[in-house]
Amino acid sequence: MNGVLKELNPKRFFKFFEEICDIPHGSGNEAALASYLEKFAHDREIFCIRDSVNNVLMRINASAGMESAQPILIQGHIDMVCEKNSGTVHDFEKDPLDLRISDGWVYANGTTLGADDGTAVAVMLALMDEPELVHPEMEFLFTTGEETGLIGAKNFDYSLIKSKILINLDTDNESEVIASCAGGQRSRVIVPLENQISKQNNETIINLSISGLAGGHSGGDIHLGRANANKLMGRILNEILSVSDVRIAGISGGNKDNAIPRECICKFAVPAEKYDSIVKIINKISSEIKEEVCAEDKNIKIDFSKSDENIPALDSQISANLIRFICSIQNGVIEMDKSMTEMVETSSNLGVIEQQSDMIRLTISSRSSIESRLDQIANQIEALCELAGFSVSHDSRYPGWAFKSGTPLQNAYIDTYKKLYPKLCPPEVKAIHAGLECGIIKGHIPDMDIISTGMTVKNIHTPEEKLNIASAERIYNLVKYIVSAL
Ligand SMILES: [Zn+2]
Repeated sequence: MNGVLKELNPKRFFKFFEEICDIPHGSGNEAALASYLEKFAHDREIFCIRDSVNNVLMRINASAGMESAQPILIQGHIDMVCEKNSGTVHDFEKDPLDLRISDGWVYANGTTLGADDGTAVAVMLALMDEPELVHPEMEFLFTTGEETGLIGAKNFDYSLIKSKILINLDTDNESEVIASCAGGQRSRVIVPLENQISKQNNETIINLSISGLAGGHSGGDIHLGRANANKLMGRILNEILSVSDVRIAGISGGNKDNAIPRECICKFAVPAEKYDSIVKIINKISSEIKEEVCAEDKNIKIDFSKSDENIPALDSQISANLIRFICSIQNGVIEMDKSMTEMVETSSNLGVIEQQSDMIRLTISSRSSIESRLDQIANQIEALCELAGFSVSHDSRYPGWAFKSGTPLQNAYIDTYKKLYPKLCPPEVKAIHAGLECGIIKGHIPDMDIISTGMTVKNIHTPEEKLNIASAERIYNLVKYIVSAL
């Protein structure tokens, strides 16, 4: 540690933040940081448990006179996203981050900073090290693998937790307090590659590609109305079905279930005599789609070419079922929240279509802040699969955290913010349409009063990630004040 941050306030917070930045802690590589946390607790004789996935729970007794106050849990994840610029030499398994300060911000030279969510870790350690802090019994939960599927939060034993109040510190914008998040699930639809027949002499192969779309995150960007390349492919192929048989020889689109697919390509056989009418259809729908798409998708390209490759293709019935399935599956925003304007309640994303040696697999990621809506979407997908003769399985389910306004913790947070920073605009209570560990915790402890907050961090998950120093001081002092005043 070379003390780059040692002049910054709050001193205790930045001291721990810098120590954390010295210990590599990318997702899946959290053991060293978990050991550091255990040592911290051991040195101070603090109750500490580390579990098999490196989650760490610490608990401190109430200060004298605070024994009857309600215990409070503070929580954040210890893993970070490891991204670096192409010219940067950095080994995320070994090297400490190269911290810099510029214009009121802390950043790491050429790499992610891990303020998401190292700031939470540093807040928790600094609070435990505040000699003067008067507080109730407090619990501190450090989780792992958040960035790669909320692994730590999913595997933690919540019977260890006594608190019914949770401040999660994984939000990156001081002007917002999060009070709801979406749950989710992944559905995998399998289309068996049976009855494949080689291209016939009277057939021709068309290669159709859709590219140039903006894409984006299937939760955070789903309300922007950006086009899904897989769905557009289904739409074009479905129109072709009205004039011709189609036999699919290859299809692939998107590469992550939680990203809106930007590209899709499909190779299919059609009767040669239908080629001209098919070209007319593709041209007609292409120009319609180009008119319809939002401004960010205006670079869309829909290209096609003809070939005489001799390749096997699915029979026309299975192909038609697949095309109609892609066309009919619900996608994008399904329902808006009834109590909060401009908030998505339920959505779905046909993120990936991939062809393997014996199957075509479609992956759909659905999200909702209402648990029963996820069941409904799963049932709808199953019903469509039943019609089409495909099989489906669902996995990676995690619960949502439904919005409730004006909880005691929300009110305390906003009131304290106004009291400490009367000249600033108080944070807005918001919901997000993406997963947070809070949803999982709420699933285990339904009567927990939860907020998610945090310091302002820009450009998370990129090498441009940076932490605002003034915001760090405000949020640290705010959390410190709240735990002594609740
Ligand atoms: Zn995070």
